[in-house]
Amino acid sequence: MVKKETQCIHSGTIENGGTGGVTSPVFPSTAFDYLEKDDLPYPRYFNTPNQKAVVEKVCALEGAEDGVLFASGMAAITTAIFAFAGSGDHVVMMDELYGGTHAFATDQFKKFGIEHTFAATDSGSIAAAIRENTKVIVLESPANPLLGVIDIRKAAESARGRKQKIITIIDNTFATPVNQNPLKYGIDVVVHSGTKYLGGHSDLCCGMTVTTKEYAKRIRETAKHLGGSVNALTCYLLERSLKTLAIRVGRQTENAARIAEFFEANRKIKKVYYPGLACSPHHELAKSQMEGFGAIVSFEPDADAGRFVRALRLIKPAVSLGGIESTICSPAVTSHAKMSADERKRIGISDSLLRLSVGIEHSDDLLADIERALK
Ligand SMILES: *Cc1c(COP(=O)(O)O)cnc(C)c1O
Repeated sequence: MVKKETQCIHSGTIENGGTGGVTSPVFPSTAFDYLEKDDLPYPRYFNTPNQKAVVEKVCALEGAEDGVLFASGMAAITTAIFAFAGSGDHVVMMDELYGGTHAFATDQFKKFGIEHTFAATDSGSIAAAIRENTKVIVLESPANPLLGVIDIRKAAESARGRKQKIITIIDNTFATPVNQNPLKYGIDVVVHSGTKYLGGHSDLCCGMTVTTKEYAKRIRETAKHLGGSVNALTCYLLERSLKTLAIRVGRQTENAARIAEFFEANRKIKKVYYPGLACSPHHELAKSQMEGFGAIVSFEPDADAGRFVRALRLIKPAVSLGGIESTICSPAVTSHAKMSADERKRIGISDSLLRLSVGIEHSDDLLADIERALK
C-alpha cells in the first residue's frame, strides 16, 4: 500500500479522461439525469462525484471503507450520533470534549429522549458508565483543549461483548488522519471537523465521518433527513487542501514539539499540555497509538493570559485551529464558552488556559514571537 503522502495526492481523484487533465473535474450540477440510474446523484444524498472523491481520499488515509462528507464538523458528529441512538437510548461521552459536542448532549439530547453520562478521560470510567441501553460511546483523543488521551484500544474493547450493539465514535480532529487512525484499534466511526486540518487554510467549513460500508449507509440515511451537505466547489477546495495534508501536518507537528519543549523549559509558563512531551502523563499511551503527537499545544502563562495574547504579533488571536497560520485562543471564552464555569473548572479548563494551534511558519520566528510577548 502506498504511503499517506501519496494517498493525499492520488486517492479518490476522478479521472479526467476526456482532456487528460491531472486534477478531478468539478461537477457543480445539482440536477442529474434519473433515467436508468439506481444511485441518483444529488448533493443532499451525499453521493455526487466530488463528494465521493474527497470521501475516498480520507477513507484511504484512515483505512475506512466508506464515509460521508458534511457541511460542518458538528453536522458530522450530531448525524453520526442520531444514526445510532434514539429515544430511550443512552450515550456515554467523555467529559473532555469539544465544547459544541458537550453542549449538544446537555442542551439537545433530552428533547429527543436520549440519556447521557459524562465519563472521565480513561477507558475504565467509560466502561463503568455503560448501561443496558447504551447505544453509542463518544470519544475524543487528543481531546480539546487539554490534550487528554484515552486508550483507544481499551475504550473500543469496552463496547464489545455486550447484549446490545454499542457503536464507538471518536473525534479524530486534533490528531488528523496523518497522526492517528482509530479504526485499526477497533473504533467503529471516525469523525473529523474538516474545518480544521483537512481544510487547513482557515477558509472552509466541513466535516466528515469515515467507517465501514454498513455504518456509512446508516449515517447517510440519517443525513438525508438532516441535510447538512456540501456543494461541489467546497469539495474542490477540500480536495485541493487534502493533497498537502501530510506535509502540512508533518511540519506543524514538528513545530509544535519544539514550542512545547520551549514552554516546558520556560519559568514564565506555569503549565504545558502536549502529549509529545516525555513529562506528559499521556506520553506513553499517546506513543502507543499515535504516529505523531499533533500540532496543538495548550499552556498557562504565569502572567495575564490576555496581555500575552495581545503582545503577540505573528501568532493571531483567532477561534478555530488547524490552519497553516499559527493561531491562539482562550478556550474559556471561545470553544468552551457554552460550558458552565463550574463544569470548566471540574474538567480543568482555567481562565488563563491558552490553546495554541501551531502553523507551518518557521519555528524560529514563532519562538521569537512568543519570547517577545512573554517579556
Ligand atoms: C471545531 C471542532 C469541532 C466542530 O467542527 P465545526 O466544523 O466547527 O462544526 C468538533 N470537534 C473538534 C475537536 C473541533 O476542534
